[in-house]
Amino acid sequence: MSPAAPPPPLRQKKRRIAIMTSGGDSPGMNPAIRAVVRMGIDKGCDVYGVYEGYEGLVQGGDLIRQFQWSEVRGWLSEGGTLIGTARCMAFYERAGRLKAAKNMVLHGIDALIICGGDGSLTGADKFRSEWPDLVQELVDTKQLTAEQTKPYKHLNIVGLVGSIDNDMSGTDATIGCFSALGRICEMVDYIEATASSHSRAFVIEVMGRHCGWLALMAGVATGADFIFIPEKPRPEKWREEMCAVVAHHRQNGKRKTIVIVAEGAYDQEGNKITPEMIKDLLADKEGLALDTRITTLGHVQRGGSACAYDRYLGTLQGVEAVRAVLDATPDTPSPFIAVNENKITRKPLMQAVLDTKEVANAIAAKDFDRAMSLRDTEFSDMYNSYRTTTSTAIDNSVHLPPKKRMRIAIIHVGAPAGGVNPATRAAVAYCLTRGHTPLAIHNGFAGFARHHGDKPDGAVREFDWLEVDNWANKGGSEIGMNRETPVESGMELIASLFKLYKFDGLFIIGGFEAFQSLSQLRKAREQYSSLCIPMTLLPATISNNVPGTEYSIGSDTCLNELMAYCDKVKQSASASRRRVFVIETQGGRSGYIATLAGLAVGAVAVYTPEEGISIAMLAADIEHLRKVFAGDSGQSRAGRLILVNEKASKVYSAKLIADMIREEAHERFESRDSIPGHVQQGGVPSPMDRTRAVRLAIKCIEHLEQFEDRSDSAILSNPQSATVIGIKGASVVFSPMKEVEENETDWPNRRPNHEFWLELKGIVDTLSGRPDVPRPESPLVGWKAKDKKRGLS
Ligand code: ADP
Repeated sequence: MSPAAPPPPLRQKKRRIAIMTSGGDSPGMNPAIRAVVRMGIDKGCDVYGVYEGYEGLVQGGDLIRQFQWSEVRGWLSEGGTLIGTARCMAFYERAGRLKAAKNMVLHGIDALIICGGDGSLTGADKFRSEWPDLVQELVDTKQLTAEQTKPYKHLNIVGLVGSIDNDMSGTDATIGCFSALGRICEMVDYIEATASSHSRAFVIEVMGRHCGWLALMAGVATGADFIFIPEKPRPEKWREEMCAVVAHHRQNGKRKTIVIVAEGAYDQEGNKITPEMIKDLLADKEGLALDTRITTLGHVQRGGSACAYDRYLGTLQGVEAVRAVLDATPDTPSPFIAVNENKITRKPLMQAVLDTKEVANAIAAKDFDRAMSLRDTEFSDMYNSYRTTTSTAIDNSVHLPPKKRMRIAIIHVGAPAGGVNPATRAAVAYCLTRGHTPLAIHNGFAGFARHHGDKPDGAVREFDWLEVDNWANKGGSEIGMNRETPVESGMELIASLFKLYKFDGLFIIGGFEAFQSLSQLRKAREQYSSLCIPMTLLPATISNNVPGTEYSIGSDTCLNELMAYCDKVKQSASASRRRVFVIETQGGRSGYIATLAGLAVGAVAVYTPEEGISIAMLAADIEHLRKVFAGDSGQSRAGRLILVNEKASKVYSAKLIADMIREEAHERFESRDSIPGHVQQGGVPSPMDRTRAVRLAIKCIEHLEQFEDRSDSAILSNPQSATVIGIKGASVVFSPMKEVEENETDWPNRRPNHEFWLELKGIVDTLSGRPDVPRPESPLVGWKAKDKKRGLS
């Protein structure tokens, strides 16, 4: 056999990286491809797309094509995968992998980034381990010459986990799982309305053959009555257990029943539990006899544009995959890119694949505790959260002894954010399960101070579970929210009210004002004994500017709203083509939501208060836009976006920037300003905000519970008695307020000293092709009171 044409590709000057999607498609794959293509090109590589998964690699030819920068424009908002995916039987065989190796060498590709599920990544790892043998065989069988293969001694593989099931060990989330969860929650929310109207029961089947993540998280996010997941098969008596829970909820006055079942649900004996079995039970069981329907969600779960988190995850992981390729040496084991809480990490690919298989093995061997332990900590946390929030008041065995039970006050401070109500619901449920008394303080400290004598219960009321049970998907704040801090309300009065209502613990949910409030209460403890109780804050604000955490609940809901708004605005420009929109975002003095939204929609530039805006910067960006439009031959009709945080500059407003662009464009293109305003608070909270709210709120009450000794001296001497819960890097931590106030807070600018996302701004710029524009000399430091009077703050 003669060596194959075309002529021998010797080691290219530029590295050639290929990106491939394989296995089941998932939302977020296109953002990942876009990131790999653009980051790769930016780093001086040629980037190729392998179409139709491993089939493309085996067949080669036109299924392996080079990408140009502009070809991935607009891919952030596209669902599925635009380079196709397929199951490929040939790749299971060595002969197929031999062909694939030959095609890789012929195209000069020495690194492969694969976005797929555990099957695809197993195949990838096998391919890499066989690579030297495959290359040798190609030479021995004279399909390629030794000369041709010389530069390809090693193959670099990097895995990106694209899957809606979130079934990969070692990572908290896979690209696509939160979009699928979003779709499920949206559907369950719709179904709930009709279930409630007709007092019906619905059994909803969701995807997940070996992994119950979607069913579990949907159960937590929607407050479902009962769930069935593969990792926690029900004991033989599941029928009685489920009927008892449903009957109990019905007796409490609930008009709807929602049961969520994963495809792979079994009982402990290995018998499949089907939606039909559940339906028959609910419909026929004496005492229940519920009008019951089954809804199988099916492929809608895969569909549509990715949610903000999946665009973020796909993008950042795509960027990290390119970096991993460039860092790799022949001795580095193949990595896959994971995310742990808030941190993008690299981990050994094969170990994760083995661990994932181990879960399936453990389930098959009926070792369910092991299956559960092999999932990440969030999974078991969530399972416990789910149990807590659904079995309320049924299980008296977990009540604490009377002397350990507490009167826990819950207050919302600041502006509404998605997740505040679900967090409150979870905290109340946990309190009831443990025998505590959860008390609502209505309308923040202002309401507390002013209305304590108005009604028989004043501004403080015991929560009514039947009412609270409906808050799992409610936006806003059901108990009322206010920005006033205790000092503004009058600390002496507030302290006297704490005494009057005999609070043993305080749970605050809110944004920067809530942080300020807790700081004031902590400092006033020296003076007022009634304030010597454990207090903790769950950060909740769309701005994500609370020190002590990298994530505030509500910020994800806001990002999704902002992203949907930007997508629409971008598309609206398709008729006229040449249009730039300058969109003003909220966010206070933190550029978080502007930057993250910029990442999710592909903004040309993002202006933040941290960086500021200067005339030189604007001029450079306008010049860049001019070039972009001059070179645009109509590949994508959608408009371009610039995002400006509301406080990025005192002078350059979105309108002024849009006017400047229009003036300078000399009719070569147009510009418009646009302000989404309070739309950004969002309607229904996103599933991420809902589920994290539940998990973190329960942790907060557990934390308060630890303070058995609530003497003034014990509280005063323990820094953990006033804390803020937060996600920091890969962990969930309670940070002592004193330390956060003193070391982590930029008080004049009302944001953390160190904002973890600042480095993401560079990625937004790189991926949008923004040149290295001149940066402002110095950003604004603190908006002063006089600015407020002048209407500037
Ligand atoms: P997923 O990646 O979503 O888990 P599959 O298990 O169907 O989906 O795998 C996708 C493709 O990856 C398969 O069609 C096959 O080409 C390849 N693949 C999967 N497992 C292996 C394996 N053990 N060896 C070689 N190739 C594999």
